[in-house]
Amino acid sequence: MFHIKDIADDFLSLFLPRPCLSCGIHLVRGEEVLCTACLLDMARTDYHLRRGNMLEQAFWGRCLLERAAAFSVYNRGSRIRKLIHLLKYSGRKDIGIMLGGLYGSVLAESGFTTGIDMIVPVPLDPARERRRGYNQSRCIAEGIASHCGLPVRSDILLRTGRSGSQTSRGRYERWENVEGLFAVGRPGDIAGSHVLLVDDVITTGSTVEACVTALQSAGGVRVSVAALAAAQKLTV
Ligand SMILES: [Zn+2]
Repeated sequence: MFHIKDIADDFLSLFLPRPCLSCGIHLVRGEEVLCTACLLDMARTDYHLRRGNMLEQAFWGRCLLERAAAFSVYNRGSRIRKLIHLLKYSGRKDIGIMLGGLYGSVLAESGFTTGIDMIVPVPLDPARERRRGYNQSRCIAEGIASHCGLPVRSDILLRTGRSGSQTSRGRYERWENVEGLFAVGRPGDIAGSHVLLVDDVITTGSTVEACVTALQSAGGVRVSVAALAAAQKLTV
């Protein structure tokens, strides 16, 4: 059975070949962003399958999370690191939507999203979002939502100040740096709910920690977190 869209895609790809962002090979019909080989080759954590996984353990004693999961491992040479860089700095929203969609289908299939009421992306500093034109965590959240039928709420968690660069600070300073940075805009909408917080990458955990603290100030809020990537060991 031929579909007009498939024929049009094939026709266009003759003249506008789309390269795999990892290996450069031309993508074929049905492939987005990465070729199938590169997609299958990504280092997945499978944290969503294990309660008490390493990422959840990293938050023990820091904040109360229901579940925590990340799609891939974030380290110096990892494929996901390059993709997140393109997503954040090269206008490639499609990377967030595609990988979010892929992760959303994995999470929904495993039951990870069962019982969750809404998806809340980590907000970006408003000035930065204006410059970038979008919030990458929201793109990921939209991708995830497309596979589990949950609403994405960007009006719940608000950024109330600027964090500045976190790169050369110690953990305590980093934590201090984000503490009080987030506030809940509509506490009545989330009181008593289970929220899935979505971030692009978790490296120190301090942003997640500050977001969870803010969300839970609404009362009776349970929070799970899902990110596209997480460092194998949070830099504490
Ligand atoms: Zn490839």
